[in-house]
Amino acid sequence: MVREQIEKRGVKNSGVLKALRTVPRHLFVPDLYTNQAYSDRPLPIGLNQTISQPYIVAVMTERLILSENDRVLEIGTGSGYQTAILAEIARWVYTVEISEALAIQAREKLAGLGYTNISFFTGDGHSGWSTHQPYNAIIVTAAPQKTPQPLLDQLADDGRLIIPVGDDIQQLRIYVKSQSGLTQEELFPVRFVPLRKKDPN
Ligand code: SAH
Repeated sequence: MVREQIEKRGVKNSGVLKALRTVPRHLFVPDLYTNQAYSDRPLPIGLNQTISQPYIVAVMTERLILSENDRVLEIGTGSGYQTAILAEIARWVYTVEISEALAIQAREKLAGLGYTNISFFTGDGHSGWSTHQPYNAIIVTAAPQKTPQPLLDQLADDGRLIIPVGDDIQQLRIYVKSQSGLTQEELFPVRFVPLRKKDPN
């Protein structure tokens, strides 16, 4: 998976590649899809949600330019796969999930795999998680129509935020905060599930 889908398409960061080789993706997909866990596509994880395509996980993580001292906020825990990748690289991961059922599953899975540098919160990620701000990096894995201001506010100086923005056709956007202000860059079109306002389940 890593060689064919990720390195060949230009992801080079050694920490990201190592994390992708370490985390057992098949443990994060439903039993029905175990045989497709390493294929080049997103997969259903129940409750109408998906685990992101491996390449997208890789690119988004690489763009966060994580170092081992970084504290990262993730919005949309989902299966917990992206959470594990982040926890392999960064010092601490704070992850927010609106669906209580998915949050519980992910917490149990990640604890079972031995991760001890992840904090979980069940709630609406539009507000970020103010308790632990500021974050060196923020990753959003569901798409809002526009970037929620609290996420920009909770970024540290030199912080990076990566987020899909839009309705049907979304753009993957990266913000970088610096002393001189905020820059933003559009990367490429993507398809994520919507960032919801409340848990429908
Ligand atoms: N990174 C996850 C992707 C999960 S899909 C993975 O690889 O498995 C997006 C997730 O965002 C879903 O679990 C969905 O329940 C969650 N979500 C949707 N709206 C949300 C919101 N407002 N706040 C937090 N999580 C949200």
